Amino acid sequence: MEEIRKLLTLYGKKIVEKGLVAGPGGNISAREGDYVFLSPSGFFLDEIKEDTWVKVNIKTGKIFGDLRPTCEISMHLGIYLEREDVNAVIHIHPPITTGIISAGMKFKPIFPDYVALLGKDVPTIEYIVPGGEALRKSVVSKVKKCNVVLLKNHGAVCIGATLKEAFARSWLLEDTAKTLLAGKIAGSLRYLNNKEIEDIENLESEDYRKALLKKDRK
Ligand SMILES: [Zn+2]
Repeated sequence: MEEIRKLLTLYGKKIVEKGLVAGPGGNISAREGDYVFLSPSGFFLDEIKEDTWVKVNIKTGKIFGDLRPTCEISMHLGIYLEREDVNAVIHIHPPITTGIISAGMKFKPIFPDYVALLGKDVPTIEYIVPGGEALRKSVVSKVKKCNVVLLKNHGAVCIGATLKEAFARSWLLEDTAKTLLAGKIAGSLRYLNNKEIEDIENLESEDYRKALLKKDRK
């Protein structure tokens, strides 16, 4: 059986453990060669067994097995076709992130890991009905230049070279939302300035940490 199925089962559990989705919400996938393995529609992410991930040929769209893949399959495949370097896509419904972006709060660099992992610009797109071509188009246009897209009144999409990297971004995203909310409640937020952001982007130690996140593949 494909090795990637084990990693998907592992990260499906981690995503639920961190409270990034509830019930059958969210969907994840990973690419191996010409195939993408997607979460089946209607399953809780922490209950998907290794043999249950739905295999799809990325070029022909052929779906293997009896289960229906996530309704966001079009968005997942669109991202893989757009970004050769991406091998994992995580779509989550993180409650604090979704709450604050839907209230109009902007995500901006507030601590070093934000810059290193999420990137200095994290775009937000307006609400679009899930599961359709409009959402695919909008998300795919954003991921040309970034690795995290925020979806107003819905959630977020985090991508990476590996499931580990996409998961690290997902986890840090919700952590950022908690920090932003705490800062807002406590007083007037200070964000990192351009010079501080640039300094982090140039840190050699960050290159080392980032390289490690690209290594969960066998
Ligand atoms: Zn969703």
